[in-house]
Amino acid sequence: MKYNFGAGPGKLAKEVLEEASKAITNFNNTGLSILEISHRSQYFMDVVDEAESLVRDLLEVPETHDIIFLQGGASTQFAMVPMNLLPPDGFAAYLDTGVWANKAIQEAKRFGEVVVVGSSINANYNFLPRDFKVSSNVAYFHYTSNNTIYGTAFSFTPEVTVPLVCDMSSDIFSRRIDVSKYNLIYAGAQKNAGPAGLTIVIIKKGILGHVKRVIPFIFDYRLHIENKSMYNTPAVYAIYVAMLNFRWLTRKGGVAAIELENNAKAALLYREIDDNPLFVGTARTEDRSRMNVTFTMVTAGLEQEFLNFSRDRYIIGIEGHRSTGGFRVSLYNAVTLQDVEVLVSAMREFSTQKEH
Ligand code: PLP
Repeated sequence: MKYNFGAGPGKLAKEVLEEASKAITNFNNTGLSILEISHRSQYFMDVVDEAESLVRDLLEVPETHDIIFLQGGASTQFAMVPMNLLPPDGFAAYLDTGVWANKAIQEAKRFGEVVVVGSSINANYNFLPRDFKVSSNVAYFHYTSNNTIYGTAFSFTPEVTVPLVCDMSSDIFSRRIDVSKYNLIYAGAQKNAGPAGLTIVIIKKGILGHVKRVIPFIFDYRLHIENKSMYNTPAVYAIYVAMLNFRWLTRKGGVAAIELENNAKAALLYREIDDNPLFVGTARTEDRSRMNVTFTMVTAGLEQEFLNFSRDRYIIGIEGHRSTGGFRVSLYNAVTLQDVEVLVSAMREFSTQKEH
């Protein structure tokens, strides 16, 4: 047993993994592997339908929005969003809150004009710009709801009067959201939804087809919607495992219930960081993420010792991202409060040892 707080690709509950592993050899008692059944068979159509309807229920996605399952990760969405929504002579507003937001900006610049309305790059992205202005002539405003590397997150939906687009890769399904406020939400599935290889996109009906540009068929959202995520071979196994995970989340009480758990987990860890004289949080307090908690040590030079100390207690994956250093503890849905208690005890024990 390991306490894995790694940032990714992601984390799934043990019971989901156990069920998922059975389907490799015997899917739904068919005597066939999930990997060999036809993706056009009724068996698999049922899986996609159930996955979609669970996403709809869990996130309360209104009928005004379509849900599709794609491949290519969030990075492909960095390009697909402007390809489909940004007119060649148009403008899009982006908020620069980290490496991922920045990659989205660089990709969008290949399709139109990008206005970066706010950035925290000069503070190594340790806060979220809040006083930005978005002019009414932009095609959309894009932001990243949770900045996985820096441990900052929007706990609210920014108030803008233009269409909203959001990269929710690292906090989708971790908290309640009002989907009706968004024109488009996308997420690489791997943090809280399912295995890497699957990308979830939620799109408001009627917003497509207004941009005059040649869009390769494979990158045209309309074709994926029309073909119910079956335009080409979908990420069969990833969709299946995500569906099991959505069932698991539903059994747990849905997003509202997991949000309470996530709040409790994050509160416990942040309390320790704030109370423990050895550690200090890196993100501005009001912008702290509940998914990725970043902190450093007040006394330099003890980081490796603490990592070893933690590893001896089966705690792994707490090293910070290579661009930030320090520590990063990811508290995805499948991490339990008990796991966080083990980590907090280790932090306390280590700091007490150092005091003496
Ligand atoms: N956006 C965010 C917020 C992420 O955390 C990540 C990866 O961790 C990405 C985008 C890139 O996702 P992908 O690797 O699926 O392209």
